[in-house]
Amino acid sequence: MAYVVTEKCLGERYATCVAVCPVEAFSPGEYKGQPFMIIDPDTCITCGMCLPECPIGAIVDSEEKDPAYAAINRELAPQFKGNPPVETRPANDPPKRPDNKLVNG
Ligand code: SF4
Repeated sequence: MAYVVTEKCLGERYATCVAVCPVEAFSPGEYKGQPFMIIDPDTCITCGMCLPECPIGAIVDSEEKDPAYAAINRELAPQFKGNPPVETRPANDPPKRPDNKLVNG
């Protein structure tokens, strides 16, 4: 069982989740030509630290909640792993996509 980065992250990638993960489960990369981030399901210990850190609520707490993106996280993990770290965006930076909203905004 693992947490999952969902489609909302695509083109956004605040990367605020990375710093709080105790096991470095997050890796950045490009998916469909856009900035994205994945959780390696074999590394995630389901601690829950990352969930409140995403300004747009792009993380879900189980693979059952988004099986399609759970599969995508798993598929992309080997190729994203080892990518250089990316800069974080401020948590109050407005979303780039019109269909995304700041959770606390
Ligand atoms: S639930 Fe915990 S271990 Fe899993 S990705 Fe989030 S912060 Fe990392």
